[in-house]
Amino acid sequence: MKVLITGAAGFLGSHLTDRFLADGHSVIGVDNFITGHPENIAHLAGNNRFSLMRHNISDYTSVDGPLDGVLHFASPASPVDYLEHPIQTLKVGSLGTHNALGIALAKKARFFLASTSEVYGDPLVHPQPESYWGNVNPIGPRGVYDEAKRFAEAMTMAYHRFHGVDTRIVRIFNTYGPRMRPRDGRVVSNFIVQALNNEPLTIYGDGSQTRSFCFVDDEIDGIYRLFNNGDSAPTNIGNPVEYTVKQLAEIVVELTGTPSPIVYKPLPEDDPKVRQPDITRARTMLGWEPKVDVREGVRRTIEFFRTLVGSPRMTAR
Ligand code: UDP
Repeated sequence: MKVLITGAAGFLGSHLTDRFLADGHSVIGVDNFITGHPENIAHLAGNNRFSLMRHNISDYTSVDGPLDGVLHFASPASPVDYLEHPIQTLKVGSLGTHNALGIALAKKARFFLASTSEVYGDPLVHPQPESYWGNVNPIGPRGVYDEAKRFAEAMTMAYHRFHGVDTRIVRIFNTYGPRMRPRDGRVVSNFIVQALNNEPLTIYGDGSQTRSFCFVDDEIDGIYRLFNNGDSAPTNIGNPVEYTVKQLAEIVVELTGTPSPIVYKPLPEDDPKVRQPDITRARTMLGWEPKVDVREGVRRTIEFFRTLVGSPRMTAR
């Protein structure tokens, strides 16, 4: 197969690119490096099955030759990033999705949308099955991401129903692992980088809010299975084991051995109080479930961030 992956220099996009290449396929990566990083794909230099287009997928583009898949992974994905780039976040979820769908339609390729558990907002149903419509504040600060992804899902379903494009939608829950940007502002990267820099770990609110953390290898395995064997209905891919943010901080303190204290900061606006995927659909349709528990995953992520200690990436945003 030959596939196009937008956001190929990002955290998930680069791991997904590696997965397709490892199975003998070819990948055209598209990235504008707003939040992606060249180091994530540096190891692919000289691989003749990989090529890179430096392009913003929110602007129209065309691609030469046949394609079997278009996977749209471009978007700022950390709350801090999408608050910093609100318009670009709205554009890549809307115009970017439209452009990527247009390429899939023109090439008769399968389309795959990276959607998010944020479509459930601050959920009133717990855990979240795909059938839940969500509780999103459209005009709050997170709305730029949540509504863009909800629009992206609607656009994907319209291309599926109206144009007959073969489509997939994955709803990705909190995912972590090597190649996260050290200062992307997300909780796992923040806590580990703070611990390794001997800075205080910053818990927002009282730390009782929950998230369910999926190690990147598990997430990519689920996404790859969904691409190959799934259907067009949205599918949750995430780790259903739920932790409070405070528990996560304690795990990071323990596994890094840091002398850093834990400090408490204000909770960001519209911060969801709970989040946990119902993965019944992925289990039955794809035979998938996560294998890496949070301690093992955090250990591997700490190893990655240790390799960056002393580099400007550990302090610069
Ligand atoms: N959080 C925190 N300290 C940090 C960063 C995040 O306590 O330094 C909290 C945040 O308020 C949220 C949870 O951790 O409740 C997960 O935040 P993240 O930004 O990773 O992603 P989200 O799930 O909110 O999209």
